[in-house]
Amino acid sequence: MGDDGGHAAAGRWGFGANALLAGISASSIRAVLNVVMSEVREDGPRPVLPLAHGDPACFSCFRTTSVAEEAIVDAVRSGNFNSYASTQGIVPARCAIAKYLSRDLPHKLSPDDIFVTAGCSQAIEIVISALASPGANILLPRPGYPFYLARSAFSGLEARHFDLLPDKGWEIDLEAVEALADENTVAIVLVNPSNPCGNVFSHQHLAKVAETAKKLGILVIADEVYGHLTFGNVPFTPMAAFGKIVPVLTLGSISKRWVVPGWRLGWIAKCGPDGVFEHNKFVDNVRVLLNITTDPATFIQSAVPTILENTENEFFQKTVDILKKAADICYDKLKEIDCITCPHKPEGSMFVMVKLNVSHLEDIHDDTEFCSMLAKEESVIVLPGKKHYAGVSLGLKNWLRVTFAIEPSSLEEALGRLKSFCNRHAKQSK
Ligand SMILES: *Cc1c(COP(=O)(O)O)cnc(C)c1O
Repeated sequence: MGDDGGHAAAGRWGFGANALLAGISASSIRAVLNVVMSEVREDGPRPVLPLAHGDPACFSCFRTTSVAEEAIVDAVRSGNFNSYASTQGIVPARCAIAKYLSRDLPHKLSPDDIFVTAGCSQAIEIVISALASPGANILLPRPGYPFYLARSAFSGLEARHFDLLPDKGWEIDLEAVEALADENTVAIVLVNPSNPCGNVFSHQHLAKVAETAKKLGILVIADEVYGHLTFGNVPFTPMAAFGKIVPVLTLGSISKRWVVPGWRLGWIAKCGPDGVFEHNKFVDNVRVLLNITTDPATFIQSAVPTILENTENEFFQKTVDILKKAADICYDKLKEIDCITCPHKPEGSMFVMVKLNVSHLEDIHDDTEFCSMLAKEESVIVLPGKKHYAGVSLGLKNWLRVTFAIEPSSLEEALGRLKSFCNRHAKQSK
């Protein structure tokens, strides 16, 4: 078949493809990683060290609690959970999620406030799709989690970006938020604890976010998938604590805190000033979307009450201790590297954003080239902030996102390789 044989054949058979996807394909983390990973030598002498995507589940030190594993086994063995689930999620799961989230709130959520989803990813898909009316726009953080941008593009929802400020501990530039919003703005997204920045928003800052959103009359979408994964001085405050001031949608899952991203169990929780979500078109849309998409497996849903209520504190503490140790190693080692600056020590999530000073490097011109050469020469994978082939990844050129959620000894090895790579490519005369 010739070069354009494929097109010709598709034309002859008369099946089309959704053109929207062409523009989105290159901007997902997975797409960017595929490009960087393609540089790795398969037969290289050293193991590949993945500091790009946060999936610690493959390291034995992050293995989930046996409480969760046994809850799933029991659910399967009982034979009671082989049917389809109800579309909003089975009632015991919704009750347990409402209780779990209410522990940290001054008010109580009800099971009716909860929608069970296939991970936090489906929660994002549903919320974005439900908001995307023609002409509407949404405010997204930069740097950000690219899935929001990809889903907005796919739904025809205009995305506008406000900055997170590295010199202010990655706080939201609220003046920029006010300047960006107009009468067609529907919501603002925040990720707390932050992916990709690794900071945790203070109670005081979130109160200001709530006031700003109230003034603008928009929803706050709080991605709290890293909720409680904090190890600095700032305690985690859920955005729903301000749910009496401004409508809040809390998105979460068991993927990160329980280190089981493959189990695909997440949620949307709604919370707002009295009556806001009653007879509400957005909530109707969420129900419609849940009706026309698939649900998390019933046996996973049925294990949720046990997982949320019975997980021992020691497990949570152990995970946070390893992350804290890893974040310390990461911050200290990165500080020793001349061409990298880390504006803010990570205090939550599994990531840190660092600036690449390309002017210190001899033969590397941007973040993408840096990541590709690092993969090729050292088999170490980190994520470039901005991708140049098409679109954005994290949205910040010449920054890098590094995850420290790997076994501490592998992390030290990876950062050692990163350092020798940077020294090897450093400008000799500065
Ligand atoms: C990992 C992640 C998600 C997706 O979570 P899943 O439960 O695995 O679908 C959503 N938002 C952010 C910020 C994440 O880092």
